[in-house]
Amino acid sequence: MTADAARDCAECVRLERDREAARRVGDWSRATDCAVLLRRHPEHGTKPARRP
Ligand SMILES: [Zn+2]
Repeated sequence: MTADAARDCAECVRLERDREAARRVGDWSRATDCAVLLRRHPEHGTKPARRP
């Protein structure tokens, strides 16, 4: 759903991979944890320009 925005965010990419890995091994609590973190990640790749 929010894959496009997450793709630009290294942290979200890591979380997505972690979530998929957790799913593969049936670790649903960890997968849910990653999903929550992904949703909460506020800035993704749309960070406001750095301020001088
Ligand atoms: Zn993110």
